[in-house]
Amino acid sequence: MSELRYHPFLGTWVITATHRQERTFHPPDDFCPLCPTRPFGFPTEIPEPDYDIAVFENRFPSLTTPSAEPAIEGLPLCPVLSSQGVCEVICYTSDHRATFADLSLSQVRKLTRVWRERFIDLSVRPGIEYVFVFENKGREIGVTLSHPHGQIYAFPFVPPVPARMLDQERRHFEATGRAMTDDWLNQELVSGSRVVVAGETFAAVVPFFARYPFEVHIVGRMGRRSLGEMEPSELDDLAEMLLDTVRRYDRLFGFSMPYIMAMFQSPVAGDHPYTRFRVEFYPPFRTADKLKYLAGVESAMGTFINDTLPEDSAKRLREA
Ligand SMILES: [Zn+2]
Repeated sequence: MSELRYHPFLGTWVITATHRQERTFHPPDDFCPLCPTRPFGFPTEIPEPDYDIAVFENRFPSLTTPSAEPAIEGLPLCPVLSSQGVCEVICYTSDHRATFADLSLSQVRKLTRVWRERFIDLSVRPGIEYVFVFENKGREIGVTLSHPHGQIYAFPFVPPVPARMLDQERRHFEATGRAMTDDWLNQELVSGSRVVVAGETFAAVVPFFARYPFEVHIVGRMGRRSLGEMEPSELDDLAEMLLDTVRRYDRLFGFSMPYIMAMFQSPVAGDHPYTRFRVEFYPPFRTADKLKYLAGVESAMGTFINDTLPEDSAKRLREA
């Protein structure tokens, strides 16, 4: 059972996906579905004795093509739609015990090519409006498989957070003729106190307006709107900046830091000259032994309370 149900108060879609309750939940290492299928071993998602990087459709998808007709009728205020789209899994390596931070630079550079290829392929599929590349890492984030992997959701609509960002960016562009990301990055670079690393192509910054402790945004200086627009040398630089960031996170508290890594890109339909590609990281820890929970004010009101100062977080990440 899977469909989109309209939330008329927020003007957004909710995906119901009850089959996901059945998904594999913290299996023992010998039964990892993302490992290669070893000779005489149990069959995993990847029917090969080894692999470099593997991409396949999620066996427990929230969005599917072709999608089933909704199993329920909507209400007059709450229409339903079939949950059309694509959910893919990307295994970064066949090494079950590795994390992103353990990958070699050449492997991450290869990964950026895979992301780019998947973005381009999914963006031309009928009915797809937004391609979201992301990684959920760590038990604290709710990850059910520890094998190093990321995901891609190809949505049949522009989800509400990027939709709101695009709206803000469009207004800024109409008022100034410039992209908000370019202006904001320049302001951060002039101020300097929240910059973690300023590279030639990309910069890593704890934004002035950080909502999460140790939140980092990786922003390009080349005006690219998506992975699809990037040159090979830019993908190489992006790989280096991503690897540098996740390694800093691991050194910060001396353990493998959980995080959400989210890539924001231009919607795949229409022209959006005002938007920019960016990667945002949200680690859930505010100290080495304290988690930041999204409680009443965050979850119900959508207003974040950050218990840390972005300037201090940036300093600690610079030094890590
Ligand atoms: Zn595995």
